[in-house]
Amino acid sequence: MSGLLEVPVVPVALARLSTLLPPERVQRVEEYAAAARRLLDGRTLWNVSSTARGGGVAEMLHTLVAYAAGTGIDIRWLVIGGDADFFAVTKRIHNRLHGVPGDGGALDAGARAAYDATLARHRDELLRRVRPGDVVLLHDPQTAGLAGALRERGAHVVWRCHVGLDETNTWTDDAWGFLRPLVEPAHACVFSREEFAPAWVDRRWLRVVPPSLDPFSPKNAELSAAEVEELVHRPGMVVEGTALPRDARVVLQVSRWDRLKDMAGVLDAFAAHLDDLPPDVHLVLAGPEARGVADDPEAAEVLAECRGQWRALPGRARARTHLVSVPMDDLVDNARVVNALQRWASVVVQKSLAEGFGLTVTEPMWKARPVVASAVGGIRDQVEHGVSGLLLDDPRDGAALVAALASLLADPERCQDLGRAAHLRVRDHFLADRHLIQYVDLFAQLLD
Ligand code: UDP
Repeated sequence: MSGLLEVPVVPVALARLSTLLPPERVQRVEEYAAAARRLLDGRTLWNVSSTARGGGVAEMLHTLVAYAAGTGIDIRWLVIGGDADFFAVTKRIHNRLHGVPGDGGALDAGARAAYDATLARHRDELLRRVRPGDVVLLHDPQTAGLAGALRERGAHVVWRCHVGLDETNTWTDDAWGFLRPLVEPAHACVFSREEFAPAWVDRRWLRVVPPSLDPFSPKNAELSAAEVEELVHRPGMVVEGTALPRDARVVLQVSRWDRLKDMAGVLDAFAAHLDDLPPDVHLVLAGPEARGVADDPEAAEVLAECRGQWRALPGRARARTHLVSVPMDDLVDNARVVNALQRWASVVVQKSLAEGFGLTVTEPMWKARPVVASAVGGIRDQVEHGVSGLLLDDPRDGAALVAALASLLADPERCQDLGRAAHLRVRDHFLADRHLIQYVDLFAQLLD
């Protein structure tokens, strides 16, 4: 048993975008779709990732794969399973690509063996399915080790990396040392920022493609006030703290339970500077149920740490802070709860210490929320400081975070202006049509 899972694809027509975008823009993406059909003629376009649920990659693939299928392209999405050793190694790589050691274990021969053992289980089945001439998009370090065999099979292989750090350090060097021989056989690489690509990536075959969101997905679609109310106050989601308040203003961070998202830092800053914020302001930290994200072995530990940290707070800080676990059994339901939380919040925070690109920033921006986010990685491309949100130069500076929150909470008009500009920024730069067009450009070069 290889454990390769196929994610069912429900095609969605691009025409759906016409209710939001000017006709020229929809026509343009439809022209590109026609070009893609000609280019791919008879070939299958495969996506291979390590999870179908939780995190930005899965979020985006659900949308992009559905639109591509809607244009008549033969597109398929496969998910590789893995054992605990494999995901411990890939999480270590993920952390190091963000410049931190993670669990501290080595990326040595033992790590390589654990990584190879899982991919070896998938390789044969994958090679049986993929035909020469097909195009395969491999997502992130978890799947990089499949590139060589797929290329030998005669497929066109693209490695899409969703993470990265602008500056290199010994940890990033360590991760790239591990990945380089795996990635080099790929025909092309795609990064969210040019700075994330190591120097050895051939610039002719490097594409910079920032992520995007889908305004019609359950995560982003309009919700009525009654739906928001019902979803936000659903019983059983608060794991620490009282039930979410009905008459308070809320500062929200939604993230996976990952140390680099720094939920702990948000909690710490809020509690330490409680008196700098108006008394009706509460903090909500929301993340997936810890068992919910298959490829993230640290989630349960990070959530447990945050819960411990919350319990150690003084009573008055505990009364105004709430930790929420969003159920993961039903992905549509999960997305609707996150959607509601983002619409309900007065200000949305993303205090990441490193970030390839934060969909958790783009999503509230689309919902016209004012955002306060760390000026790290892709977030710097997402938010223009003072125009479509506020950026924090030092992601570790909790006092600066609270000062930014206090200034926004005291100025509803500014919040509205920032929110309006944020929505337009997402409409103009971070929707699926731009994303799909960039991929078609890449396929044109690849299949030339
Ligand atoms: N997310 C979710 N449920 C949660 C927490 C997060 O659906 O409980 C989603 C979030 O809305 C976003 C994605 O997971 O769409 C996270 O993507 P992002 O690019 O911000 O970060 P990543 O998790 O990929 O590092």
